[in-house]
Amino acid sequence: MNIDFDLEQVGERTVAIIDQENLRSNAGAVALESFIVAIDPTMKPPAARAFRQKLERQFGLPVKFLLVTHYHADHVFGVAPFKDTCVVGSTELAASILKRKDTEWSPKALERWKQNNPDEDTGWLDEVEIIIPTLSFEGRLEIRDGDQFVELYHGGGHTSCSTYAYVPHEKVLFAGDLMFAESFPYAGDPTCDPDRWMDAFRKMLSLDFEKLVPGHGPVVGKDEIEKHLAFFEALRDATKEAIRADEGSEAIRIPEFYGSNDEKSPWIKVTLQHWYTFYKDAEA
Ligand SMILES: [Zn+2]
Repeated sequence: MNIDFDLEQVGERTVAIIDQENLRSNAGAVALESFIVAIDPTMKPPAARAFRQKLERQFGLPVKFLLVTHYHADHVFGVAPFKDTCVVGSTELAASILKRKDTEWSPKALERWKQNNPDEDTGWLDEVEIIIPTLSFEGRLEIRDGDQFVELYHGGGHTSCSTYAYVPHEKVLFAGDLMFAESFPYAGDPTCDPDRWMDAFRKMLSLDFEKLVPGHGPVVGKDEIEKHLAFFEALRDATKEAIRADEGSEAIRIPEFYGSNDEKSPWIKVTLQHWYTFYKDAEA
């Protein structure tokens, strides 16, 4: 498995893994005075191990906390190399992981995954261990080290357990999958709440930061959140219009947004179906 990657410098003591196709998701970290806080591990344990080694070598400090932003496999499967650190997430994250640990993510299920994808490099699946977070929080949690701190927020939105991290002294925000930078977002998870997601965008916009590390896509600025928020609002209105006209989710007139008119994209289709059901249920 090719796990060759570089850490991108995002702030003075903030780094990230950005847009490495083979690693499946972004990850990042900030070095405080005496320890490192990492945000997401990437999907594959060998890459996650290399990520931790690079961090500890670069800063000469140990990783003490790993925030897992939400329950999707590309953010959870790589946790094992960090299991001796304090693994943090929202209370709902622990519940979501626990629910899957012995079912869709059981050793047997992962073995089936390998058998069903014989052409893919799936050896890394042998190293996957499903880790339950050791520290759970609701609302807001502050990780402090001397004068510096990292703020964690449970905002929900992309999933009900979605969290993000804010580093005020570095003016950096780690958004997890609340931001798919410069692409159409995956907003079709069964627990996705578009209204809470938009609230999370508004809260993020109220914070003082310059760089945003997304769960997927390149590092962006606040303007990308504004763009996404405007699109979400327009899509919400279009969805409600299709519901009012008593038409199905296929009738939603999607505003132009990063290839949103690609009718063949299963990701967009699932998102529209979910929003349609979500707002229809909200009306009932
Ligand atoms: Zn996700």
